[in-house]
Amino acid sequence: LSLHESPAILLDVVDLHDRDRIVTFLTPIHGKRRGVAQGARRRYSRYAGRLQPLTLVELVWFEKENRDLVRLRDVQVVRSVRRLDRELELILLTSYLAEQVVCFAQENEPSVRLFRLLDATVQALEAGCDWRVVARYFEVWMLRLNGLFPSADSCVQCECSFAEQGAVLSSDGMLLCATCGTGARVGPAVLSFLKATARLPPAAVQLQSPPADVLARVEALCAQLRRSFLGNDLRSYQVMQRTLAETAEHG
Ligand SMILES: [Zn+2]
Repeated sequence: LSLHESPAILLDVVDLHDRDRIVTFLTPIHGKRRGVAQGARRRYSRYAGRLQPLTLVELVWFEKENRDLVRLRDVQVVRSVRRLDRELELILLTSYLAEQVVCFAQENEPSVRLFRLLDATVQALEAGCDWRVVARYFEVWMLRLNGLFPSADSCVQCECSFAEQGAVLSSDGMLLCATCGTGARVGPAVLSFLKATARLPPAAVQLQSPPADVLARVEALCAQLRRSFLGNDLRSYQVMQRTLAETAEHG
């Protein structure tokens, strides 16, 4: 039995029997882990109000050799979610961000950059950044950290710079110049958004006020790359799209 302590961001919480909960969390060094929070469903549990997804915590847990499921011992909240569980768009986005991490993060593997990305993302949302920009920023980086995002600078085949001409996205997820390939066009404004995400934090990207059509194009591009890697759409993404469409109709 070994004892571990680490900062962690909570991803998912599900009930286990009638007393306990299973918490999935991301840490910088141990990657994604799952642990039992004993007694968390009881009314006067010491975990009460502390297990909201995307909360930043300081976590202590026990681990047994060769067991995937760890046992939580202590959870101290470092940054709770305030905006994220009040507005509909942000509630939907919370599930979507968390599912992407659950899906792409590796168990027990250092995930320092992914942890930093998620932390910066939650921070930006809580600080009131435009969620549409932050969501696109996160999607791009999620794919980039997993080696699934093509370079937005130059053609992967002939290495010419995209500059003013823009690029095309091939069916196998490559960005090519129009001479080297065919596919959906990716214009200079989209490329410059992608390049900005590579060197700036989310709040600075928002200051460049990317237009709605550029954000929509980036979203579609990321969805295509992710789908061709995973083989399907994430459930939380489908729910978010459907709900936002319905809200727009009735609003
Ligand atoms: Zn080319």
